[in-house]
Formats: sequence, C-alpha cells, structure tokens
Amino acid sequence: MSNSSGPMDSLAPVSRPSREEAEEAVRVLLRWGGEDPAREGLLDTPSRVTRAYEEFFEGYSVNPEELLARTFSEVEDYDEIVLLRDIRFESHCEHHMAPIIGRAHVAYLPRRRVVGISKLARVVDAYARRFQIQERLTAQIANTIDSILEPYGTAVILEAGHQCMTTRGVHRPGVSMVTSRMLGVFRENSDTRRELMAMLNRPTIGELSA
Ligand SMILES: [Zn+2]
Repeated sequence: MSNSSGPMDSLAPVSRPSREEAEEAVRVLLRWGGEDPAREGLLDTPSRVTRAYEEFFEGYSVNPEELLARTFSEVEDYDEIVLLRDIRFESHCEHHMAPIIGRAHVAYLPRRRVVGISKLARVVDAYARRFQIQERLTAQIANTIDSILEPYGTAVILEAGHQCMTTRGVHRPGVSMVTSRMLGVFRENSDTRRELMAMLNRPTIGELSA
C-alpha cells in the first residue's frame, strides 16, 4: 500500500526480439495449437499477430507521468470532485496473455491544478496497454495521478471481465472483477467517498436523454 513506483512503472526494461523472432514464436504457437503454419490461410498470421501486439502493448512506449505534465491552474477556485467515468479500457492479463476488458472511473479532488480530461483517459491506456493484473493497474493509475497532480485525493475504480476466466479454466462468463484505490480525502473522509459513490450512481448522459 505504498505510493512508491514498482518496477512495472519504468519503460520497457527488456531488449526486444526482432520482428522475425516474434513472428517465428507465433508459428511455434500455431504448431502448438495443432496447425500447419504453412497452410495458405495462416501465412500472414504471424505478421498480423505481431502488429496486433504492437497495438495491444503500446503502453510500454508511453510515459504516463509526462501525459499529466501540462496542467491548468486558472480554475476559479474550483474545489469539487472531478470524475471521469466509464472509460473503456482493454488490457491483457500477464498470467495468460488473455484480454481484460472493462471500464475505469477516475476521480480526483483538485488542489489548484486540473488536467485536461482526455489526459486521464490516456493515463488509463498507458498502463492498460501492458501485461497486467487488475490490482496493479488500478494502483498505478491512482498513484501516478496522485503523485503528479498532488490533489487532495485520488480515486480509481476498475470493473472488468477477464477472458482467462470466461474462455478457459473455470469458464465463468458474466463475472466482473471490481478493484479500487482510494487516496487522500477519498480514503480518509467517508463523506467525500460517499459523494463520489453518489456521482458514480447518477444516470449517464445516454440514460438521461433516453
Ligand atoms: Zn489470467
């Protein structure tokens, strides 16, 4: 429960294999699944998979702290909760390399400085597009916002389905996992936390106009 950055916060610590090596690894997995990688329909699969991996894991080439570097201080003494909710994210579990798909709710109570809202979503992506476990993903998003913006408090709630649970192992579709990390006033003050929960439970814009 410390605020210190774990090893996963640093940028890609390993030397990457060549594209040819990565494509060969995909051929090995195709054979492991029982296929013939030389079959016509599979000829381009290794290059497609490696390109998909570049997209799935582009978070390793993003520095989340830099995303929050530009802040706005002229906020007319705005001192209420800022909440960005229902941020869809896609990640991959580091145990099975299977997709984790969910929604993030990110809130903070600003102390003088606010940040562009799209930046909060990009911080979520920067950490989600890596090999993850949901607990660490939650903590990394919250810790980064908290340490860079230095707000009165930061709250992150993640709700996600893990395909390693739905398509293999216990085969339990429809189960979602909820994790949260509350820092500062959200942790210490139950009124502030209750206010956040009330904001989260309000109807969405889509529901209001329906
Ligand atoms: Zn898994």
